[in-house]
Amino acid sequence: MLRFTPMPADDVSGAEHGPKAGEPPAKQYLLASDFDQTLSFNDSGEALSELLGRPDFRAKVDGLSAAHLVQQGGELAYLLLHDPEYRCVRREHLEEVGRRIRLKANIPALVRILDAGIPGHRFAFHVVSAAPEEVVRSALAGLVPPENVHGTKFEYAPTTGEIRSVARLPAGYGKVVVLDGLQRRLQITPDRIVYVGDGSSDVHVMLHVNRRDGFTVAVSENEHIAPIARRTVLSDNALSVLVPVLEDVVGWGGTARVRAFFEAHGLAVQAWDKKQVDQVTIRESPVADVAGR
Ligand SMILES: [Mg+2]
Repeated sequence: MLRFTPMPADDVSGAEHGPKAGEPPAKQYLLASDFDQTLSFNDSGEALSELLGRPDFRAKVDGLSAAHLVQQGGELAYLLLHDPEYRCVRREHLEEVGRRIRLKANIPALVRILDAGIPGHRFAFHVVSAAPEEVVRSALAGLVPPENVHGTKFEYAPTTGEIRSVARLPAGYGKVVVLDGLQRRLQITPDRIVYVGDGSSDVHVMLHVNRRDGFTVAVSENEHIAPIARRTVLSDNALSVLVPVLEDVVGWGGTARVRAFFEAHGLAVQAWDKKQVDQVTIRESPVADVAGR
């Protein structure tokens, strides 16, 4: 678990590390992040259901996931298209939900540091989410340019404003497709891709990134994700994803240099418990099975 505390403003000076004359050009990376519960605390679908006064959202999503009718993470899009209780939803509801989403701390600092703050490294920051694009763009307005947010795209009926169809759904394998498109557009090699996510909607894309020598970070102990991700980091602060990035991608071994880096940006790493957890369950086995070996 990582916790940060702000430091006095004096310490922030000189924090930026732009390229200096004679230095080699910065290495270009793509850092793609999930949104729900990775940059925020709650699922967009829960926030929307709260706004609409629909208490059964969780049960509906659980039912859909158990049936595997849609890609993991695509349940909200399915409900918006097919569930009568969600038929009333218009673009402006989704934008309002975005304004209500509680974001993790220090997203502006994360964006700033990724752009120019790490010596020799530049990261294009993109958000790839199964949440409706309107929700994520509205939640991150002023923090992440809208063109860097790739969420579920709906088509609306021109007369009524009703959601008519889904044009793109970046959940499950849909995230792989979006990431590949971004990689081609930004002309970044697969080993320079970092993907950050929290849930089972991120399984395909993490396997894809790992297979091609990219780097993956889980921000939850989700049983499907944690064993796949190269690193897992738990924190209520969005900047925490920089810890594995600085250690393993930039290559700063040891905690001292990482701590000094955050201090130069006005933040102290207050708590940092490094642990690798082997979770083991052992139970009694019927004697007959043992004797039969
Ligand atoms: Mg998520």
